[in-house]
Amino acid sequence: MSTIISDGQTSPEAASLLRSLPSIDKLMRAEILQNLIEEGSPRELVLELAREILGQIRASVRNGSLSDVTTLTLDALGKQVATEVSEVLNGSLCEVINASGVILHTNLGRAPLSQEAALAVQRIARSFNNLEYDLESGERGNRMSHLNDLVARLCGSEAALVVNNNAAAVFMVLSTFAKEREVILSRGQAIEIGGSFRIPDVMVQSGAKLIEVGTTNKTYLSDYAAAITPQTAVIMRVHSSNFKIIGFTHNTPLAEMAQLASKNDLILVDDLGSGTFIDTARYGLAHEPTVQESIQAGAELVTFSGDKLLGGPQAGLIAGKKILVDQLKKHPLARALRVDKMTIAALQVTLQHYLKNEAETKIPAWQMISHPLANIEKQAHEWCSRLEHLWPGAKVLESLSAIGGGSLPGETLPTYLLALPVPTGQSAKILTAALRHQHPPIIGRVERETLLFDPRTVQAEQEELLLAALEQLAR
Ligand SMILES: *Cc1c(COP(=O)(O)O)cnc(C)c1O
Repeated sequence: MSTIISDGQTSPEAASLLRSLPSIDKLMRAEILQNLIEEGSPRELVLELAREILGQIRASVRNGSLSDVTTLTLDALGKQVATEVSEVLNGSLCEVINASGVILHTNLGRAPLSQEAALAVQRIARSFNNLEYDLESGERGNRMSHLNDLVARLCGSEAALVVNNNAAAVFMVLSTFAKEREVILSRGQAIEIGGSFRIPDVMVQSGAKLIEVGTTNKTYLSDYAAAITPQTAVIMRVHSSNFKIIGFTHNTPLAEMAQLASKNDLILVDDLGSGTFIDTARYGLAHEPTVQESIQAGAELVTFSGDKLLGGPQAGLIAGKKILVDQLKKHPLARALRVDKMTIAALQVTLQHYLKNEAETKIPAWQMISHPLANIEKQAHEWCSRLEHLWPGAKVLESLSAIGGGSLPGETLPTYLLALPVPTGQSAKILTAALRHQHPPIIGRVERETLLFDPRTVQAEQEELLLAALEQLAR
């Protein structure tokens, strides 16, 4: 096949570069690719990716966007293809070491599962199971029966339902109860949560009309009351998950909103976002409203995430009045947004940790929150003594860990960090890139040309890998 340069703009330099590119046959004969194929990588896949890469390079030579001609040697091209092959065959999703000190890091997969929950996923995934089979009657069962009562028991609610995630839960609640009706929300709660989940946009998609009341910092019961019309279906509260308004503020207590809703035959919905069963104030953090408190205060439907402070798999939990939950279960969205067997397996075990009063010792997010400061300090000093003879200026610093994951905005826990100053002649950018290319990749923090590693979020089985990688980096 001959290459036709259709646009007359191709410069003589580009034309000569194009001529100098190896043919596909020659590229396939590169040693690194021959070795890959000998080691078992499928030849057709290597060929396909080699073609793709050569095609991309030709295109960028033609449009003048390729400036670095050193990437065009046979060796360099072979390496590029090999990297691509490895990514396709080995997958790009991998475990990482989170040394950032952010416990629920949305970019790092949020909550890690407990060992028991992970094992339950493995067991159920690998075997037939009674997902939709009633072992009592021998007839068709309901997949949600494995979770609904458990969630309701923990929340202290009449009923519950679990869907794909909390965004889905909010969408489903609004679609079911507020389609072509009005939803009253405080102006300060019409928020955007990471990943472009905007409450006003969700309202539009669900067919609900948002009625914002009050001001950004103050909303009184009278503001809600004045906005009620015959079109109103729902009064809603949304947890301000990722920001905090300080200074003069007023949030109407949920119990007052509940009274108003009930008097006017409206549904009070509380989107808690993170949601927790455990009082965060026990750990010196601000008090995060618990799910049980919301139900007790009179919220008729409460929605929250499975993989934030709950510490389980991605899921959206809806707890509340039976008559409302039953309506949700019948909505066509319930089928579209349902959870799969692996989620059910992980969530069931995670919720049982709470029932058995072992959340703090078994669920990684709570282990990290409740980790005694003295232990973290000791660990940071141990890390430091292993590295100080290799890394000039290594020291331990007092600092703060963050909860993250759209829960407890601005709330931190005291911690101790291993601090490694960037050596002269090196750059933080290059060192952090090297850390990201470790197996597993290491994600830390950088402040003022110092690499920082927080023991609080490093899981025990990864500690040795982290230290070995840092020792190697120092050499
Ligand atoms: C995080 C959050 C959501 C979205 O939950 P996902 O489980 O990520 O879908 C919705 N509302 C609030 C208030 C949140 O904090």
